[in-house]
Parts: sequence; C-alpha cells; structure tokens
Amino acid sequence: MKVTEYFEKAKGETLTSFEVLPPLKGGSMKSIFDTLDPLMEFKPPFVDVTYHREEFIYTERKSGFFEKVAIRKRPGTVGICAALMHRYGVDAVPHLICGGFTKENTEDALIDLNFLNINNVLALRGDARKFDSKFIPEEGGHSYAVDLVEQISNMNKGIYLDSNIENGNKTNFCIGVAGYPEKQYESPNIETDLKYTKAKIDAGASYIVTQMFYDNEKYFDYVKRCRAAGINVPIVPGLKPLTKKYQINAIPRNFYINLPEALSKELLKAKDTSHVKEIGIEWAIQQSKELKAAGVPCLHYYTMGDSDTIVKIIEKT
Ligand code: FAD
Repeated sequence: MKVTEYFEKAKGETLTSFEVLPPLKGGSMKSIFDTLDPLMEFKPPFVDVTYHREEFIYTERKSGFFEKVAIRKRPGTVGICAALMHRYGVDAVPHLICGGFTKENTEDALIDLNFLNINNVLALRGDARKFDSKFIPEEGGHSYAVDLVEQISNMNKGIYLDSNIENGNKTNFCIGVAGYPEKQYESPNIETDLKYTKAKIDAGASYIVTQMFYDNEKYFDYVKRCRAAGINVPIVPGLKPLTKKYQINAIPRNFYINLPEALSKELLKAKDTSHVKEIGIEWAIQQSKELKAAGVPCLHYYTMGDSDTIVKIIEKT
C-alpha cells in the first residue's frame, strides 16, 4: 500500500514509522532485525531504509599527499526492503538518491523495486561525499531530487528512457521527498528552498518527510510556510533522539540545524552518559506529545540502531 493511503486510512490519527540504515559492508541483517523486532509492537505501516553513496577513504602519505585507499559502502537497501516486507508484513520505503546513479541505473533500480511489489520511494539528491566540496552528480545522472521525482513520475505514466511514448507498463510509486524546517544547508534562504521543494511536489511527489529538528516551533512554522506556498501534501516530522554528549556539536555540524538553548544547557550540565540519554529521551517525548496533539500524520523516528531509546519514547507519547 502507498504511504499516502495509510495517512488517508488513519483519518487524522497519528501513525508511527521508522528509518533504518543498512549495516556497513560485511555487516549482517541481524542488526536490522534486532533494531526493528522490538519496534513492531507499535505497528508501523511502513519502514524507511536509507541509501548511501560510496565514500572514498584516504590516507595521508608523505608531505600532505592523500591517497585513496578504499571505498566504504553500505549496500543492501533493496534486499533489506524485501526482507522487511517478508518478515514483518510492513511496507518498505527505500530511499533512492541521485548521487552515483545514471538515469539508466535509476530506471533499472525502479524496475527492480516494482518487481518486488515496493510501491513507495523517498526520492533524494544525496549529500556530497565527505571529501568533495560540493555534490557531484554522476555523469548522465540527475543533479537535483526534482529530476529524480520527474523520472519516477514518468515511469508511473509508462514513459521510460528509451522512448517518450507511454508504453502501457506503468509503475505505481508513491513518491516522498525531503523537507527542511531550518532550510537545506546549501540553499541561500528559506524562500528559495521552499520554491524548490514545491517544484518536487509539482513534479509528482505526494508527501514530505522533514529533516530532524529539536524545536517544534520550527516544524509548525515550516508547515505554515509550505501551506502558504501552495504545498498541500502531508508533512511528516522526522525525529532523532539525542543520546550522546558529543551530539551537542555533531548534530548541528552534520545536519545544519540548531539545538534550542534550553536543551543544550541541560545536556551540558548532565553528570554522565546515562543522564544525557535521559534528557534526550525526555525531550523527544515532549516533542512527540506536542506533535501528536497537533495532529501530525505520522511520527517518523530515525532509529540509528537504538530501539531501546525509541521504545521508551513511544511508550510515553
Ligand atoms: P534537493 O531537493 O535536490 O535540494 C538540494 C539543494 O538544491 C537545495 O538547496 C535546494 O534548494 C536546491 N535546488 C533544488 N532544485 C534546484 C534547482 N532546480 N536549481 C537550483 N537549486 C535547486 N541522503 C542520502 O544520501 N541517503 C539517504 O537515504 C537520505 N535520506 C534522507 C531522508 C530525509 C528525511 C532527509 C531530510 C534527508 C535525507 N538524506 C539522505 C540527505 C539528503 O540527501 C541531503 O539533505 C541532500 O543534501 C539534499 O537532498 P534533497 O533531496 O533535499 O535535495
């Protein structure tokens, strides 16, 4: 079933969903099952599985010269999606990125997903590789998520790359895209970012999942601005509980978002690791309660392999 159909069926009730990351190359599916098994009691209608472009690993040789020594990968998104659907009977939402894919690669990937009866996709551009100063698209690939959305929409109309004529074999993907309550980091301003988010909806996306945020006002304000800009699709808040002290700096650095002062102050005062975790969990509970009371379509938790934390939050929400 499509993600948006779940929202319609829920008739205003807030659903719960999760995001998992494929393990690093060589890792086992067990880690995914260990994360998701305890979360199934919350009956998520769908689970997202991220996709990661390969990262190059460099080592420093003589006189500041860096040599590429390895490629780090997290393959397996599609396999994990198939396994989740089989084990739990939930719908899987694979993330599909522009980075590292030609348009032909994308088409092939979508054909595989279609054969597996996967009807949902979160369409993203992907980040720049760690050592690249900006996002570099694959030659013959897409530069922006909107172009990926357009390609998927075309396949939904039966239009494939080797022909611009509908051939009748239509895919049936429900397309989600990313949204940024605190703006995407490369965007010059919130208005421009919103303009491009609207372009993704106009190209055929039917819901938005937000980047994490720790101040609900940012989400509420974002929804208001989206509505004013004519974006009328469901906007799902993404929540990532903060559980470690280093995240006070790492989360703003890596995700270009702010932590409210009240939260950072409390975390800085924390006596030890377990106290940090308690504060992070309590904060996420309060955020979740308020969002639920406001009638959001779904609370979407970034699990980061830590189901204990997520269970504690949902049980008290
Ligand atoms: P886009 O929508 O393409 O936007 C990128 C930038 O370009 C923005 O500044 C936008 O305003 C601008 N822009 C867009 N269109 C145009 C245009 N036509 N002309 C000029 N400028 C334009 N990354 C992964 O690698 N794997 C994942 O699985 C993954 N999952 C994610 C899930 C969620 C919910 C979120 C919020 C992010 C996720 N990301 C993931 C990270 C995402 O790939 C990055 O945030 C990335 O930097 C932007 O992706 P996007 O799809 O929002 O890009």
